[in-house]
Amino acid sequence: MRLGDLDALKEKVNAFYDELFVGCVSSDLITFAKSVDEMIDNVPTVEAYPFEQVQELVKLNQQFAQEIEDLKRPQGEWIIDGHHIRCNKCNEYICNTDGEGDKIPNNFCPNCGADMRGDKE
Ligand SMILES: [Zn+2]
Repeated sequence: MRLGDLDALKEKVNAFYDELFVGCVSSDLITFAKSVDEMIDNVPTVEAYPFEQVQELVKLNQQFAQEIEDLKRPQGEWIIDGHHIRCNKCNEYICNTDGEGDKIPNNFCPNCGADMRGDKE
């Protein structure tokens, strides 16, 4: 399949007819020209959108997909178990400190993906 501008094609064809028909307009030629016009009008078309609009739609789709993913995540909470913390959904213990022993915030369980932000439900 080739994509093109049918309006531009129609303009060119009509300009060609204008030159062709000078001084020799017959009903056969007019019928022929109308048939060609109809053929052009009935060619299957696709809508073209500006690239910026497509980029915006892709961005919105990605945000929507992320929101769907977030909704599918179970809501969990960290259980403090002595010096360790574990996920209440999968019971996996996680290390929530860096090499210096400082706590690292974990919004999601790295094992089961449970949402630990506590702003749902
Ligand atoms: Zn978990």
